[in-house]
Amino acid sequence: MSAPVYKRILLKLSGEALMGDDSYGINRDTIARIVGEVKSVVDMGVQVAVVIGGGNIFRGVAPGAAGMDRATADYMGMLATVMNALALQDAFRRVGVPSRVQSALNIEQVAEPYIRGKALRYLEEGTVVIFGAGTGNPFFTTDTAAALRGMEMNADIVVKATKVDGVYSADPKKDPTAARYQRLSFDEAIQKDLKVMDATAFTLCRDQNMPLAVLSIFKTGALARFVTGEDEGTLVLA
Ligand code: UDP
Repeated sequence: MSAPVYKRILLKLSGEALMGDDSYGINRDTIARIVGEVKSVVDMGVQVAVVIGGGNIFRGVAPGAAGMDRATADYMGMLATVMNALALQDAFRRVGVPSRVQSALNIEQVAEPYIRGKALRYLEEGTVVIFGAGTGNPFFTTDTAAALRGMEMNADIVVKATKVDGVYSADPKKDPTAARYQRLSFDEAIQKDLKVMDATAFTLCRDQNMPLAVLSIFKTGALARFVTGEDEGTLVLA
């Protein structure tokens, strides 16, 4: 396989990706599969930082909308991402990939706090850094945390790894004519009203000229092909 074109990536994994076909929680085989995909790029020498979501365990918006205090619900959501981060770290350990969890909320007994300089040092050493607790603030999402940490880590690109292998012109499950966009500009994505990431995350990346990609973490070898510059997923550039 050819050499990677990205030296450092920020990978956003949604909580839902960890569920597999289950209706909630963490599916063991699924997490092992995801970790295998990440390992393949770590083995190429790519530095990987991960922001993990929490939607498989708790999403603050729905309980917030149902009358629960939104900020409280969001803190619960952030704690859910810490659980996923620990599960991910354990899965990395099993395959011999060194990783560290840093949490945006202080829970010292469980994970070290987010310290930018330390995280950068881990990445330089080849350790995968898993960022838990999103941005540490309610009313935000882990997509926004991915954009933020991607910029703080001076990543070359923010890669949103989902179940779908890119951004499509329509829902590929409903519309057989739906086509995948190979490349988009930020402006095209806005004009076409395409959902790449949530609006705050998208705006942050656009303002800071941070390239974005959307690809499937369930398509075997897709992440590895993407980092070597092959046509996988959708690339969003200025
Ligand atoms: N969350 C938050 N602030 C953040 C990141 C996440 O309040 O900076 C909360 C929010 O309630 C969100 C939940 O954590 O619904 C889980 O995160 P998200 O929905 O982004 O996870 P994903 O959809 O990626 O699984």
